[in-house]
Amino acid sequence: MGEAALIALLSGGVGGSRLAAGLYELLGEELVVIVNTADDEVVYGLHISPDVDTVLYALSGIGDWERGWGIAGDTFRCNEALGRLGRENWFRIGDADLATNLLRTELLSSGMRLSDVTELIARKLGIRCRVIPMTDSRVKTTVFTSEGPMSFQEYFVKRRAEPEVLRITVERSPDEEAAPGVIEALSRSEAVIVAPSNPILSVRPILETRGVLDAVRSSGAVKVAVSPIVGGRALRGPADKLMKAFGMEPSAYGVAKYYSELFGLDGMVIDRVDADLARRIESELDVKVLVTDTLMTDRTRAVRLASEVLRFARSLR
Ligand code: GDP
Ligand code: CA
Repeated sequence: MGEAALIALLSGGVGGSRLAAGLYELLGEELVVIVNTADDEVVYGLHISPDVDTVLYALSGIGDWERGWGIAGDTFRCNEALGRLGRENWFRIGDADLATNLLRTELLSSGMRLSDVTELIARKLGIRCRVIPMTDSRVKTTVFTSEGPMSFQEYFVKRRAEPEVLRITVERSPDEEAAPGVIEALSRSEAVIVAPSNPILSVRPILETRGVLDAVRSSGAVKVAVSPIVGGRALRGPADKLMKAFGMEPSAYGVAKYYSELFGLDGMVIDRVDADLARRIESELDVKVLVTDTLMTDRTRAVRLASEVLRFARSLR
């Protein structure tokens, strides 16, 4: 890392990757994306890192923006063939996407660290900024539901986040550390931005990585979050349901409250439809609010939101 100012983004998959793509367009190598790996799993014998790949594909421009995962225009011949061979194939990996997962698995089994593998793939995809998985250690999320315990992907993909969630455990290795570069990036960034990612499934596991929460708390960076909850609902996935299940208010206010209690938030970006929450966030939480259009339905809108988030963050210094 050089002397240039850095902006750190904490990111999950779809919401995170969209804001990451917007910020990358504006910041280039001044951006560092720290990505959740709590939904990593071994599928078909391959080490899959769904959030890392979603970010890599969004930054390199090959991702499927609408779908929010995988490579645009990918085919699924391997997946279909697995089905014909009698293998359960609800976890879909496209044929080109498979190449990423094959390479990752091969390099990991040769002893390389996940962060180095990610860096190598990022370079090969032409990405100039750093994309760092939160840790190189294995992290395993189990979702305990009304239908019993299941792996994260079983809950999220196979069961489409439908079963009622009772609790979630994130198993971590006792000697786990944040991946190289994570703590440094957080400490020396001028802003730490929390993407509009699932606070419970994507952001909390990053913050719970050893040393990360302390680094965010003690960093001199301005801390800003973008709400993944718009009009009381998640645009995708179960963030709203889970927040409710965990006793949080499923709203932009609830997200702001969560982060402000965890590490002291300076600014919260909320959608226009939630404009009436701004006063409550400012007065009850003492967090400044930016109200804007937060729907990143395409890259242009993501860049527009990113530039507003940056301007807002800089105004809070
Ligand atoms: P996952 O890892 O793929 O589940 O994705 P993330 O954790 O990064 O993001 C999930 C959250 O992203 C959901 O709660 C969505 O509401 C939110 N999200 C997705 N797209 C957008 C968007 O364009 N704008 C905003 N504000 N939130 C979004
Ligand atoms: Ca995810």
